[in-house]
Amino acid sequence: MATRSAVAKALPKSGRAAVKTAAPAKRPAAGKKKPEAPAPGDFAPVVGAKLAKLGIHNRADLILHLPLRYEDETRITPIDQLADGVFAQVEGGVISAEIMYRPKRSLVCQVRDGSGVLYLRFLNFYGSQLKQLQEGRRLRVSGEPRTGFFGAEMIHPRYREVQEGDPLPASLTPVYPATAGLGQATLRKLTVSAIADARRAGQLGETAPAEASARLHLPSFEQALDTLHFPLPGASTAALAERSDPAWRRMKFDELLAQQLSLQRAYRARRVQGAPVLAGVADAKGDSLLARFTHALPFALTKAQQRVALEIADDLQSPHPMRRLLQGDVGSGKTVVAALAACRAIDAGYQAAFMAPTEILAEQHFRKLAQWLEPLGVRIAWLAGSLKKRDKEAGAAALASGEAQLAIGTHALFQDKVSFARLGLAVIDEQHRFGVGQRLALTAKGAGVAPSGKGADAIADVRPHQLMMSATPIPRTLAMTYYADLDVSVIDELPPGRTPVVTKLIADTRRDEVIERIRDACGAGLQVYWVCPLIEESETLQLRAAEETYERLSEMLQGLNVGLVHGRLKSDEKAEVMAQFAANRVQVLVATTVIEVGVDVPNASLMVVEHAERFGLSQLHQLRGRVGRGAAESVCILLYQAPLGETARARLKVMFETTDGFVVAREDLALRGPGEFLGRRQSGAAMLRFADLELDLDLVEAARDCAQAMLTANDPLADAHLRRWLGGREAFLGV
Ligand code: ADP
Ligand code: MG
Repeated sequence: MATRSAVAKALPKSGRAAVKTAAPAKRPAAGKKKPEAPAPGDFAPVVGAKLAKLGIHNRADLILHLPLRYEDETRITPIDQLADGVFAQVEGGVISAEIMYRPKRSLVCQVRDGSGVLYLRFLNFYGSQLKQLQEGRRLRVSGEPRTGFFGAEMIHPRYREVQEGDPLPASLTPVYPATAGLGQATLRKLTVSAIADARRAGQLGETAPAEASARLHLPSFEQALDTLHFPLPGASTAALAERSDPAWRRMKFDELLAQQLSLQRAYRARRVQGAPVLAGVADAKGDSLLARFTHALPFALTKAQQRVALEIADDLQSPHPMRRLLQGDVGSGKTVVAALAACRAIDAGYQAAFMAPTEILAEQHFRKLAQWLEPLGVRIAWLAGSLKKRDKEAGAAALASGEAQLAIGTHALFQDKVSFARLGLAVIDEQHRFGVGQRLALTAKGAGVAPSGKGADAIADVRPHQLMMSATPIPRTLAMTYYADLDVSVIDELPPGRTPVVTKLIADTRRDEVIERIRDACGAGLQVYWVCPLIEESETLQLRAAEETYERLSEMLQGLNVGLVHGRLKSDEKAEVMAQFAANRVQVLVATTVIEVGVDVPNASLMVVEHAERFGLSQLHQLRGRVGRGAAESVCILLYQAPLGETARARLKVMFETTDGFVVAREDLALRGPGEFLGRRQSGAAMLRFADLELDLDLVEAARDCAQAMLTANDPLADAHLRRWLGGREAFLGV
């Protein structure tokens, strides 16, 4: 039987890592059935498959599979002191057990202790239970009491027969995240033995620097493990439940430290890779592409755009690959900043590639950049999956020969067949839409050799610079954690002359009024988006809904041209509809979420989103960003169907109250958690399981500084720490 060697309660405030030892305490009683003993370091296949569902692949993972909460079975509560809804354990004798039919068929058993009577009620039960619960037996019962039909009762409590004086468990009972077929008893047993073995093998030592632990008053790793897996009866259940106990903070810090070490290491690794130096060649003379482009732009750059353009220019002039994330709310003007960077690459004799996640967006970038840059003599290749084979081959050939200086396209850009003569810069728009692997593929296309034969080619491992753009503003804590391997630039200002979009929430029973508004807007020469509901289960259903909406609106809006665009259209058909809309030959565009990102038609000033309650918050924000791009006052109508669920109501409320992308992002993060919020960037990477980015900001900062110090000092603990926390899962981090 495992025993604990040390007890970690709060450390003394002095921060000295004093270790209090206590008499060995017995581990909590496990269930009756004995699981097969797991092979050392591995699990029996059946259990192994279930553990894998919980993300547990080896015994080390098991040790870090920490309890969700605790139940206190170390004490017996007298029945007359039970509090509604508060977990408790009661011990008493059975005075009766019978099947009752009111208010519902159930097995009801009365247990009495010296202070009162508790009713146990089972709605699902076996006949054999009735026999077990015989009068006179002594039971230990635990669960959440409530005041029921007869008085104090527990529904489906856990119970077992005991003899008077049977010892109580010495520590709180941990409740682990579990899965079907793998219950608490088994998990507890496996965990206890994994910890005992690791302790014997001396594997629970410190992997974080002692100074950091002392400064933050954190207990040792081993103490923290013991506190969390086997907390003593006196432990503060509140601090454990809220995860504010020093033992929890220890685990959170370690987890954050692993993340920081891994990302900062990726950052440092990049500093020894080579990249082409994209220095402005002829800025002074004013005849560089950059100078001519800046001069030809029909608007002045905002201060924020100028600032981020300079930050990017600095990176491009360094001989190491840039990995910069350019954040800016929808409509803040990221495209032109990317175009400026592309000009620098082209000026230096390199190629630039501009990749967008959807064909509609890529096409739009192509049109815009061609309009800006072709008059200045830039040769552009356009590559999308749906192009005719011949066109695709021609585009690829122009990139391979170096004849084309700028490539614009979808993920078709980084397929094997496409090679670049000398790629200097890859721009990835709406980066959160791409998988890690896709971005890796694009940068894996080496930068090739500088036309001069000098500079970059002297370094063996030459990578293109990478500029990632995202309209999902990332709250500071997220940037400090998940994006610690990137440099971040923020455009925090919209171009002048924009009027904020007014958002209205309208029940879809008032659809007629909305149709009137559409007529008015189009009558005034403006244009309208109508976004169809998201039907996640089926693309076919989604399509049918869009087609029906299109037909209904065409009928109701006689005299106006209504267009339809959705994901199943061929790309030239999509392009045709978008071109019609951009030219105001179509006034009302019925669309699925294919228009969600990037689409830019400034004359569109009214958007209607049908079944807005089905959309996610950042999706609604992106959609809304399609309007408010021109001078006209814009309105976004969120049509919803009552009744609204709690989260849907919360989302719509946020949309109604703010147009600030940062506020939206913060609320979205709070509603969804970082895993979903970040989307695919983190696929394959270890997520933060324990740390809470809102509550644990001090730990985030401490972990960042600590990782920095460890890497600078070449601390060998860094490897040990990463092995413990990330195992083999590090591969995808830092792409
Ligand atoms: P996003 O950041 O959402 O990608 P875009 O790059 O599509 O935004 O820019 C939105 C619109 O604003 C485009 O029509 C663009 O030409 C225009 N724009 C960009 N910068 C400025 C500026 N400084 N002044 C005026 N209009 C601008
Ligand atoms: Mg954009």
